Amino acid sequence: MKHARSGIGKIQKATGAGSLFSAHPSRADTFTESVIREMTRLALAHNAINLAQGFPDFPCPGELKIAASEAVRNDHNQYAITWGAKNLRDALSVRVKKFNGMDFDPETEITVTCGSTEAMMASMLAIIRPGDEVIVPEPFYENYGPDAEISGAVPKYVPLAGDFSIDEEAWKKAVTRKTRAIILNTPNNPTGKIFTKSELSFIRDLCVENNLVALTDEIYEHIVYDGKKHISLGLLDGMEDRTVTIGSFSKTYSVTGWRVGYALAGEELTARIRKIHDFLTVGAPAPLQQAAVAALALPDSYYHGLAEEYDRKRHILFDGLKKAGFSCELPDGAYYIFTDIASFGKNDVEFARHLVEKIGVAAVPGSSFYHKGGETKLRFTFSKKDETLHDACTRLEKLS
Ligand code: GLN
Repeated sequence: MKHARSGIGKIQKATGAGSLFSAHPSRADTFTESVIREMTRLALAHNAINLAQGFPDFPCPGELKIAASEAVRNDHNQYAITWGAKNLRDALSVRVKKFNGMDFDPETEITVTCGSTEAMMASMLAIIRPGDEVIVPEPFYENYGPDAEISGAVPKYVPLAGDFSIDEEAWKKAVTRKTRAIILNTPNNPTGKIFTKSELSFIRDLCVENNLVALTDEIYEHIVYDGKKHISLGLLDGMEDRTVTIGSFSKTYSVTGWRVGYALAGEELTARIRKIHDFLTVGAPAPLQQAAVAALALPDSYYHGLAEEYDRKRHILFDGLKKAGFSCELPDGAYYIFTDIASFGKNDVEFARHLVEKIGVAAVPGSSFYHKGGETKLRFTFSKKDETLHDACTRLEKLS
């Protein structure tokens, strides 16, 4: 039960001793449902403002709505090619070359998936043999724990340093004969950390020396602040054929419910990923893949505007949290603030419960991002309308 956590509400059902199938445990018993998504259900139940799950409460660009409606009207309603509609893979290849500087052949190196969630899961299933070890920097996005359990990987959690930089000695020590892959998330959820060129070079050296695959989740690549730059690990010399770069339309275009993401990798890895993807989901929603083509045609000004909007939201929430007595830093990227709550005298789960029930604001308990620990942390998202954030900050003032 490596990843079993208690869950915050009463929603999570026990599959332990005494249940009908307790004599027949399965891998589903080794982890709980997502606490992030559970918090959304609790927010709804308590009519609280949802600063827990990272999704926008504002509309996506109008161009995408039109393109999605037209795709349905124009009968793009049957399966797309399993690994993604050709025009979407072609457009992705151009976009990734322009923004990330990497070359991917749309015919053999790009797989369109049901969100980055499936991209990560399919990639792990494609690469891991049960028992293989996978390095996971901690804190980490909660999906990676269950992803490891489902794929049979043995996660080796390596704590980031206090400032969330890489502790090189700890990483080197974590690698064994059984290590197969490293999971990286930059810009990072929940910390906002953007891994630097020199940190990425260190990871590259570790991967090359030990013949490891890097699975890099770059879903927040366009949400960066203060002139910081996102660099794709796959761009570094020696990483071309040993990196799976995972991206998505969800956060960049505010369409988290569309479930369209992608995995970019060299031909050998892609061939494996495509097979797993094919039998897992057959493909991502066909009309929304057509709308994703329209998203990729948006001008550069769209991306600048997105980062500017999130910068403003970042400051609204940061100021509100500070005023309410939270200890926190401005993140460099992504759209979360990872706070320290030690001064409030409650652990993360108790405090999250108090916030959602009594204050009317939902956040994610810090322990969701650690295999052990995190009880002094709480994560808030600022992927919400300014007015939603202002309302939440007003409610949080009741704490101080
Ligand atoms: N990435 C978002 C978060 O961390 C949402 C995750 C999800 O529910 N798929 O909150």
